[in-house]
Amino acid sequence: MEIDAAREVRTTCPYCGVGCGVLAKVAADGQVSVRGDPDHPANFGRLCSKGSALAETIGLDGRLLHPEIHGRRTGWNEALDIVASTFSQTIAEHGSDAVAFYVSGQLLTEDYYLANKLMKGFVGSANIDTNSRLCMASSVAGHRRAFGSDTVPGTYEDLERADLIVLVGSNLAWCHPVLYQRIAAAREKRPEMKIVLVDPRRTMTSDIADMHLAIAPDGDVALFTGLLAWLGQHNALDRAYITAHTSGFGQALFAASALDLTSVATATGLSEDELVRFYSLFAATAKTVTIYSQGVNQSSSGTDKVNAIINCHLATGRIGKPGTGPFSVTGQPNAMGGREVGGMANLLAAHMEIENPEHRDRVRRFWNAPDIAQKPGLKAVEMFQGVADGRIKALWIMATNPVDSMPDADAVEAAIKACPFVVISDVLASTDTVRHAHVRLPAAAWGEKDGSVTNSERRISRQRSFLAAPGEVRPDWWIIAEVARRMGFAEAFAHETPAQIFGEHAALSGFENDGERDFDIGAYAKIDAEGYERLAPFQWPVPSPGGGTTEHLPTRFFANGHFYTADRKARFIAIRATTETRTTADFPLILNTGRIRDHWHTMTRTGKSPRLSQHIAEPFVEIHPVDAQHHGIGDADIVRVSSPRGDVLVRALITPRQRQGCVFAPMHWTDQFAAKGRLDALTAPLIDPVSGQPALKHVAARIEKF
Ligand code: SF4
Repeated sequence: MEIDAAREVRTTCPYCGVGCGVLAKVAADGQVSVRGDPDHPANFGRLCSKGSALAETIGLDGRLLHPEIHGRRTGWNEALDIVASTFSQTIAEHGSDAVAFYVSGQLLTEDYYLANKLMKGFVGSANIDTNSRLCMASSVAGHRRAFGSDTVPGTYEDLERADLIVLVGSNLAWCHPVLYQRIAAAREKRPEMKIVLVDPRRTMTSDIADMHLAIAPDGDVALFTGLLAWLGQHNALDRAYITAHTSGFGQALFAASALDLTSVATATGLSEDELVRFYSLFAATAKTVTIYSQGVNQSSSGTDKVNAIINCHLATGRIGKPGTGPFSVTGQPNAMGGREVGGMANLLAAHMEIENPEHRDRVRRFWNAPDIAQKPGLKAVEMFQGVADGRIKALWIMATNPVDSMPDADAVEAAIKACPFVVISDVLASTDTVRHAHVRLPAAAWGEKDGSVTNSERRISRQRSFLAAPGEVRPDWWIIAEVARRMGFAEAFAHETPAQIFGEHAALSGFENDGERDFDIGAYAKIDAEGYERLAPFQWPVPSPGGGTTEHLPTRFFANGHFYTADRKARFIAIRATTETRTTADFPLILNTGRIRDHWHTMTRTGKSPRLSQHIAEPFVEIHPVDAQHHGIGDADIVRVSSPRGDVLVRALITPRQRQGCVFAPMHWTDQFAAKGRLDALTAPLIDPVSGQPALKHVAARIEKF
């Protein structure tokens, strides 16, 4: 940190997975200002509208500042004692699987690490899952199937070096704006760079695209399976790479060959001419990156979509080389950090596998854990079903708002309301979730807490505090450690600083890891307070503290055939494209949900900034002109959007950017910000069978003028 620490603090944006560096300054009068960190390798000084408005979102309005039990203000000791004793008693009476933690990609890695350690090593259950399940679980599952590890095989520089960027199910311009800006700048320098957008909607990202493929919802498996077959038929394979570094190619190509071009056209809703143009461009362009996001992940076939994309990169050897690779961009600031510490119900810490007895034993010995979880726990949707049917009797929700953000949100709210014991640690006193808590624990917010996050390119950056903690708020890691101590695990949770937790997390990543696992930051195991304070952004794996390498890291993993499967080869996955019709006569349209540029999740932070609300002030539904006419809806009419589960009232936005037969509505507004706005009251608890990720982008719906 070479900045003047007395004036500006170097930290990281708390919104999306780009992970931009931020310089925050507190003036003598207490006014906070922020600017992009020119030295951060994710953004080089850029910030998007959300990042630029961070200073407007840190006021104390609505903050939870003191612990509460049943709405009564209390002290930390009483609140922590009741949490610890009720969890311990529930475990003693009903077993360890009767309790659960539902956590968040908003947590810092150190918070995530301790929550995971407590649940998996000391409670003895793996019932800890996260709202990241709604975000990138299909990418995790796809990586693990193909590579034997959850490694993103690319860097942001690869996007700038590519000659072809294929964007699949990603409105990068609005959802990862600084990455979009980096690509736009690279394209200005190299106009020969081509960009293809695969998305049912013509989003703002299409402004930069040479080709927009307005694919039918969930047509992606057919598109990329058809591409694999095309590559085989047109002599566009890298046979040497396939032979040396992969397994399962024959079966994958055989499965793909079941689809001819006409079948792909039918399944994708694209013309054969569009397919041939895209396939020819892909086949001819060696330096290709395929970026994908929630349009791929949030699907009942999300993991197959991920592997269909990876298959095409493996078949052409376009992985692990500069300017190539399949690239998953994560939604949340620390979705990747959560993965690194095993903050999901089917993962173990440090990217080890809960199903692997050797991994379980290694983690057990490292933690000196009395009761290591023996099997995966309940994933997000299953977890709230477990709350609903009484299997979960004590639930701790940290830094997230599932009553508004989970699919089938009304059922989730009913489950939480009926749960015998609900603890919530949050920064806000009153969200739709917080109001159902028996115990409310005030957590530190961005700017008040210290820790680390990992962005979409595996770059670990520090978040640093620059504001005094108000009231009695405490960092999440402190709250978790205090509860753990009161549950009888004082020795294992004796941490006094986030630096100590980070050091333990680093040590576990390197523990008995002689190259067996890719995730390794073991060189930081002995980091001290000063080293942690000065920690500069770095990517894993690292040979030594401070990085000390200019090597293109994916080359080390993948170009040289060093995958983390038993035979060190990448696995092709044989995939058969299937189509599923969810629409009915009563619900004839397909509702797609997503983000807008200037709001974030359920608006608990961005809703505080008038400037951010100026961009789009109210919830809306995008409708194709033909569908609008058919339903007698005019522009700006109030429209009721319904599914078999619920309805919302939103403004009609009639646009040919929308695909006919589909509508789109943003997921941010809740009843707090709009008359009837909880969009996830409409979505179904339908999940991908491999990843457990909900299918939030394909919901049968109808529209009517209100
Ligand atoms: Fe923050 Fe993402 Fe915007 Fe960067 S692109 S400033 S990380 S919201």
